[in-house]
Amino acid sequence: MLIDTHCHLNFPDAFPDPAAEIEAARVAGVEALVVVGIDLESSEAALRLADSFEEVHAVVGMHPNTAGEAPEGWLSQIEALARRPKAVAIGEIGLDFHWKDTPPDMQMQALLAQLDLAARLDKPIVFHCREAYDELLTVLEARGSGRYLFHCFSGDLDHARRALALGGILGVDGPITYPKSEALRELVRAVPLDRLVLETDSPFMPPVPYRSKTNHPAYLSLICDGLAQALVTTPEEVESATTRTAKAFFGI
Ligand SMILES: [Zn+2]
Repeated sequence: MLIDTHCHLNFPDAFPDPAAEIEAARVAGVEALVVVGIDLESSEAALRLADSFEEVHAVVGMHPNTAGEAPEGWLSQIEALARRPKAVAIGEIGLDFHWKDTPPDMQMQALLAQLDLAARLDKPIVFHCREAYDELLTVLEARGSGRYLFHCFSGDLDHARRALALGGILGVDGPITYPKSEALRELVRAVPLDRLVLETDSPFMPPVPYRSKTNHPAYLSLICDGLAQALVTTPEEVESATTRTAKAFFGI
């Protein structure tokens, strides 16, 4: 069975009927879904889904692109959410220097505060990082190894090696199926299979043949197949290794 380690069924505009999404995913072999928050509202929504559906687990946190608009006292609210039983990690947090919605120094403050929170609560961390791998990895290297998941990894091989040296694991998404993703396929071949997990990032980044459409957790097996092709192994092998790693990381 597969685990979608990163999806946004907590985005009601994209997913007005999450129950139908969860059922379609189950039929497609997805046994568990990790729903990830990007701000207070979506983190609460992730927990509401997790409380309603046994196979759903929540990740709560303030995304770098929303940190600039976070209300006063947001950190203690995230902490309260993170203490609830089905909150399995802090995320998605990090740095995004592509979309400059939030000034970099504010992104850094939110990142550091949530790294401290995760340490205090002994929770693993899901990172969002775009065009800021050097900066993020430098911060983490100063703090030491940890339970780090680099969601939708888009760094280069050197970044991947640094992430692995910190004990990190890498999320693989729809782009592994894109014809132009040869560099990504080469990169994953240099990563031990037990350091990779599968994610859809629904509703974003759909795999082939659904590009430009809405992505769904039920499409996860296409990403599993794409990774298996890149690694020249079987989907069964990828499925069992990534599921084992995801369960260990999130403690589910
Ligand atoms: Zn996400």
